[in-house]
Amino acid sequence: MFERQECHHTDQIRDAEPSAQGCEDCLRTGDTWVHLRECLVCGHVGCCDSSKNRHATKHFHATEHPIVKSFELGEDWRYCYVDDMLV
Ligand SMILES: [Zn+2]
Ligand SMILES: [Zn+2]
Ligand SMILES: [Zn+2]
Repeated sequence: MFERQECHHTDQIRDAEPSAQGCEDCLRTGDTWVHLRECLVCGHVGCCDSSKNRHATKHFHATEHPIVKSFELGEDWRYCYVDDMLV
């Protein structure tokens, strides 16, 4: 890819409340996680790809909600799964 990419998914961002203070799927099964990502479309909180369950990525595949943000204190970035880039 040589051209600069643009993300056209940011208009799907809703002002959703986070669904939980931890990965809601890991909390259900009693698993642990490394870092958290929050879906900016529905507020689903899931664990990152360094976590064994990768619930944030699974949530994207299940729902096609494209954009997550970091749910970690002191981190401020948003990521689009479809474009594989920070937005
Ligand atoms: Zn995008
Ligand atoms: Zn998880
Ligand atoms: Zn979602």
